[in-house]
Amino acid sequence: MEQNIDVAGVTKCFCGNPIIAREFLMGGVSYLADSRLENLKKLRMLDVPKIMIRLPMISEIEEVVKYADISLNSELDTVKKIGQVASSMDKVHGIVLMVDLGDLREGFFNKEDIISACEEVNSISGVKLMGIGTNLSCYGGVVPTCENLGRLTEIKESIENRIGRSLDIVSGGNSSSYQLVEAGKMPCGVNNLRLGTMLLLGHDEVNDKWIKGTYHDCFILKTEIVEIKDKPSKPIGEIGKDAFGNVPAFEDEGIIKRAICAIGKQDTDIKWMEPLDGSIKILGASSDHLILDISKSKMDYHVGSIVEFQLDYVAILSVMNSTYVRKVIKNRDEKVREG
Ligand SMILES: *Cc1c(COP(=O)(O)O)cnc(C)c1O
Repeated sequence: MEQNIDVAGVTKCFCGNPIIAREFLMGGVSYLADSRLENLKKLRMLDVPKIMIRLPMISEIEEVVKYADISLNSELDTVKKIGQVASSMDKVHGIVLMVDLGDLREGFFNKEDIISACEEVNSISGVKLMGIGTNLSCYGGVVPTCENLGRLTEIKESIENRIGRSLDIVSGGNSSSYQLVEAGKMPCGVNNLRLGTMLLLGHDEVNDKWIKGTYHDCFILKTEIVEIKDKPSKPIGEIGKDAFGNVPAFEDEGIIKRAICAIGKQDTDIKWMEPLDGSIKILGASSDHLILDISKSKMDYHVGSIVEFQLDYVAILSVMNSTYVRKVIKNRDEKVREG
């Protein structure tokens, strides 16, 4: 079954880096989308419609209208302000109203409320009601299904009947909704998805499967060893709280070979990174030190050696936001481009 679904490439995970965003465009996305205006501003030279995907703050509407063509909304006061500002700039800003299908983050919860909100938005000058959207598996962990997204398409039809025209956008969620497309089960009214994780990691979050033909190692973190010493696996002395307020527990494995790398919780999330050398074990981290057990590795590590890690979503987000980590963008054929 053929399905026409436009993709909004979500750039927030890499802080709106325009070089990576351009690769999204080459890959065929129809929009770029971000939750932060600072990131949308970085993308302003790219000629493609941009969507602000976090509900706009009333205090930032001027910039919303300036840097985004469309925004996701759930409050009429905000939409009215957008209408005023857009009119004063001789612009028309697109509005997608959010429907909460049960995940309990943003959006109108009752069908009648969303329909009357659409009627009202339809009458505000300076804005154009582009459509509706939803977000699942974020706060409540609610899995996208034919049933809940079917409700979205039902709501779309009721709105179209009420306002007497069709809606351009029915946005069925984030990467977690992609599994329905692959299974051929996406309700046919859905014509847009907002994808970040899936484009960056080739990962279907719901089924925890890798998508065929995708690379999973596009984000590699390189760290430098600043100490290697043989020490016990278990700290000596009475154990109180660690630097982050937790009381840690340790196995006694005798003397192990421990390495410290110069990176820490200021820069990354150790639960979401995996050493490329599979025999290395991450023991823990404090703000600026990453502690590894390298006892089992066959590699000859020494002070100054580089240890590489493959990153998953949360670690990518953290690393890309750390001003202490230098970012280098390469093609797979190793041609280095500016950072
Ligand atoms: C972050 C975000 C997305 C993208 O989510 P992924 O799971 O990375 O695809 C889509 N929509 C909204 C509203 C978001 O905040």
